[in-house]
Amino acid sequence: MIVLDRVNKHFGPLHVLKNVSGEFRKGEVTILCGPSGSGKSTLIRTINRLEEINDGTIHVQGRNIHERGLDVDRFRMNLGFVFQQFNLFPHLTVLDNITLAPRKLKKVPRSVAEDQAASLLRRVGLAGKEKAYPEQISGGQAQRVAIARCLAMNPEIMLFDEPTSALDPEMVSEVLSVISQLAAEGMTMVCVTHEMGFAKAVADSIWFLENGQVHGQYQCRDFFEEDNDARIRLFLSHVNRQ
Ligand code: ADP
Ligand code: MG
Repeated sequence: MIVLDRVNKHFGPLHVLKNVSGEFRKGEVTILCGPSGSGKSTLIRTINRLEEINDGTIHVQGRNIHERGLDVDRFRMNLGFVFQQFNLFPHLTVLDNITLAPRKLKKVPRSVAEDQAASLLRRVGLAGKEKAYPEQISGGQAQRVAIARCLAMNPEIMLFDEPTSALDPEMVSEVLSVISQLAAEGMTMVCVTHEMGFAKAVADSIWFLENGQVHGQYQCRDFFEEDNDARIRLFLSHVNRQ
């Protein structure tokens, strides 16, 4: 579904992605983890061209995403992106946050978009929150609205960059359970997270990044094996102590 081939990215003198290659398969959940600054956000942002790359290729559903003439807005409609900080529009209600893109970009009639939004809100456990403004709901609720907003565009791929790291601890599970539900429904997902219990429960594959390089790509169960390599063991011991 998504194929990276020797992707390189520089920020000035900083070489932040070094020959990153690999594949995110259809219907699978891939977790990206690794220490802070290892390039996880940069990597996930290259997939929908929030970051441009300097070298290498990225194919999404068979198409080179840097080919000339690609309609970036159209391309992005098929990839939902959930940010750490939710990025809801503060001046719009929950309902308008969810219906804006379908109405403006896909020309979905308002009544249809609003019915769909109501059903998405039920799906993320927020029935009846249509009229609330982002500042009137909790962080966990806001992140679930952000997920509903992505789903309103019917994406085939969902990308998450640390979706729970800005949340109070007691709100983490309500967001992770929505993401787990999507995984169970077969959504193709790439998720940056340090929630390793969640990763263990939902991941098909786990990539471990360090210093802009892929240290390893693992089947989920292999990653958590006791006899895994020393670097992974060290990482897991730090994360588990938090
Ligand atoms: P992670 O998400 O794993 O913490 P990032 O992808 O955010 O890592 O960052 C990788 C490296 O790139 C870090 O050294 C970071 O400081 C640097 N970096 C990220 N974004 C920018 C930017 N816009 N300009 C310059 N350097 C950046
Ligand atoms: Mg990051």
